Amino acid sequence: MDSPMLILMALKLAELFLIEREIDILLLICLGVDGNGTRPKAEGVVFYDANGGKHVAYLKNESNNDSEIILSAGAVGSPQLLMLSGIGPADQLRSLGIKVVLDQPMVGLEMGDQPLNSLIVPYPNHIQLSLSTIVGIANSGKNYILSFNGFDLSPLSVSGGDQPSQSSKAFQEAVSNLTANLGLVSGTIKGPISKGYLQLRNTNVSDNPRVRFNYFQAAEDLSNCVHGMQTIIDVVNSESLSRFRYRNMTTQDLLKMMVNMPVNLRPKNPNATTSLEQYCIDTVMTVWHYHGGCRIGKVVDRDFKVFGVDGVRVIDASTFSFSPGTNPQATIMMLGRSMGRRILQRRRS
Ligand SMILES: Cc1cc2nc3c(=O)[nH]c(=O)nc-3n(C[C@H](O)[C@H](O)[C@H](O)COP(=O)(O)OP(=O)(O)OC[C@H]3O[C@@H](n4cnc5c(N)ncnc54)[C@H](O)[C@@H]3O)c2cc1C
Repeated sequence: MDSPMLILMALKLAELFLIEREIDILLLICLGVDGNGTRPKAEGVVFYDANGGKHVAYLKNESNNDSEIILSAGAVGSPQLLMLSGIGPADQLRSLGIKVVLDQPMVGLEMGDQPLNSLIVPYPNHIQLSLSTIVGIANSGKNYILSFNGFDLSPLSVSGGDQPSQSSKAFQEAVSNLTANLGLVSGTIKGPISKGYLQLRNTNVSDNPRVRFNYFQAAEDLSNCVHGMQTIIDVVNSESLSRFRYRNMTTQDLLKMMVNMPVNLRPKNPNATTSLEQYCIDTVMTVWHYHGGCRIGKVVDRDFKVFGVDGVRVIDASTFSFSPGTNPQATIMMLGRSMGRRILQRRRS
């Protein structure tokens, strides 16, 4: 009962006056001004319930109350909702006809995502399905290496493009047997340092905003990826793993197979299999570890309160400056629990 999300949800529901229906889609935060008529202040939210009914819920309006809105819509949803509510870069908001409540240029900036790069490894024998059960931390913590095995990539095509030159029996057998015996040894990097941005496309909350992560814009991110890929290649060529895979398949064959997979919409450079830098750029995938857009110190303070506005906190991955460790979810859940307890304690004291 006291999971972090439940605590946050309980706080949300306790604060909102007369909410009888759950929020299905939050449209915006209603912002007024404080008693002096100068500082923006949260008054409530506008939302749709599960049946499409539109509601406005107001915060309690008592003299000594510390009611507030806690926004936890994630790295894409939270900056989007702040902007739709009038908190964001003034020019962008005005261009969409949104009334500017607070010009806050950092909302939607410094978006990040850990890049994921992989080497595909076909196996001659059946491999049990397993998903990243073990993670290796390599190169002084700059690389996280994990593997996914035994899945079916047959819907994806390896035809077209620059096919592996190797015409060995092993290679032909591997390509014709893409239904079950595949593994991916994948790596992601610490950080990352590269930062992108999020911009609204329109004022419809149900439309995804435009998001750009600028993978590998920072040279250090690219160099970390190259180190990670080199480690992956060493692992795949190690005696321990070579016992299970097609020994005749060269590293070049494996790199070419991956380059020919439709893993993203990026153009494939002819030197993607000879330069690990280019390989990292051309075969990058998301690992869904989005963060930023409402970063601490830029959009929210250390109590996760939005700068320049009363009564709004953002508590989710949008406040992070980097993605913690290999997988962020446990840290985000701990943040929810910790903040929920801290807020409740302060109210009781
Ligand atoms: C396919 C996939 C696999 C992943 N695997 C792992 C993993 O194995 N391990 C790991 O640690 N992490 C994993 N992650 C990442 C992890 O899920 C995220 O980092 C984490 O959930 C982010 O937490 P959050 O609270 O910031 O946002 P979210 O968990 O995204 O929560 C935001 C919530 O707000 C809701 N929302 C957004 N806008 C609105 C709106 N306008 N109205 C109402 N609701 C709204 C969203 O629907 C969502 O429920 C994975 C992510 C994906 C997509």
